[in-house]
Amino acid sequence: MKIPLVDLQTQSNQLCADILPALENIIRKANFVLGEEVEFFEEEFASFCEARHCVGVSSGTEALHLALRALQIGPGDEVITAANTFVASALAIAYVGATPVVVDIDPADYNINAELIEAAITPQTKAIMPVHLYGQPAEMGKICELADKHGLKVIEDASQAHGARHRGQRVGTFGDAGCFSFYPGKNLGGFGDGGAVVTKDAALAQQLRELRNYGQATKNVHSCLGFNARLDTMQAAVLLVKLRHLETWNAQRAAIANRYHELMSDTGIELPHKKAHVSHIYHLFVVQHANRDALMEHLQQHDVFCGIHYPSPIHKALPFLNVRISPDGVPLAEAVANRILSLPVYPELPDEGIIQVAEAVKAFQPAEVVG
Ligand SMILES: *Cc1c(COP(=O)(O)O)cnc(C)c1O
Repeated sequence: MKIPLVDLQTQSNQLCADILPALENIIRKANFVLGEEVEFFEEEFASFCEARHCVGVSSGTEALHLALRALQIGPGDEVITAANTFVASALAIAYVGATPVVVDIDPADYNINAELIEAAITPQTKAIMPVHLYGQPAEMGKICELADKHGLKVIEDASQAHGARHRGQRVGTFGDAGCFSFYPGKNLGGFGDGGAVVTKDAALAQQLRELRNYGQATKNVHSCLGFNARLDTMQAAVLLVKLRHLETWNAQRAAIANRYHELMSDTGIELPHKKAHVSHIYHLFVVQHANRDALMEHLQQHDVFCGIHYPSPIHKALPFLNVRISPDGVPLAEAVANRILSLPVYPELPDEGIIQVAEAVKAFQPAEVVG
């Protein structure tokens, strides 16, 4: 069978009957913008994240952008983030006029290497933006300790890690703000774009509510340069239904990862490392191989479709941006960019599919290996 990197169709079809009445209800009430479903979802998602407040916004990118803005980060400031992340992390930093500073990764989990952060701190540094990449939490203990020591804000990019835990604590709740994306392909995804910020700070939550809604404190009273960046009512209704399944889906992803480990331990590809003190929710299952491109091509010929997350570190992916590289450089992020491959992982992937992927990986001839 054909195994896509991500399969959205199976899940959408399974949930269609549950979601349609919720959408019909909104159509009949015609409360399309900031309808009550947005508030219901915010309450439920805050509770799921074990966070105090949640503000729904229009995308993960806007969650990061508005969080940075609400925390007063702007021109002349520097924000430290990981060199290997989705471009949106760095774009959001640039939107507020700040400079992204990239730090190398920890080879054990591909996340920002917390041991290398201090060397990148300058008098301009205002915040650290760890990204819980592929669904595995970054080293939040060390990161929060450094932030406290240097008076920095922490904005977590949790767009790939809805529900993951670090030493038992949900991601998104360590820093000043935790940012999530509900892009359809994420572990929790809508039927279009959406995002959210969670925070323990009531004043920050209020500011985010104003920022997402033209800067309106109350009708026609404008407190700041605001945006139109609200979570859509229809998306909130979809997310309310899907949130009830998220723990199950995350557990299914972890079970698939375990199967991959069982079936591919002797194939010569480097499998993901799971740190003992975190729960990994496997947004992506990323392996490494010296001959990545040939492996990807070979898998495609066996109907297994993979991805690369990401083909270049952000300073190379965004050549038009002024991205500063940490004084230590980012050699590991640059090296793994040519070796990483994301194998299919989605909750509905059946065991025959998992076996097919593993068999296809095993059939890759060592003779094809270079380097
Ligand atoms: C998806 C993603 C984003 C952006 O989210 P959108 O909803 O697509 O704007 C930001 N950061 C990371 C790490 C992501 O994976």
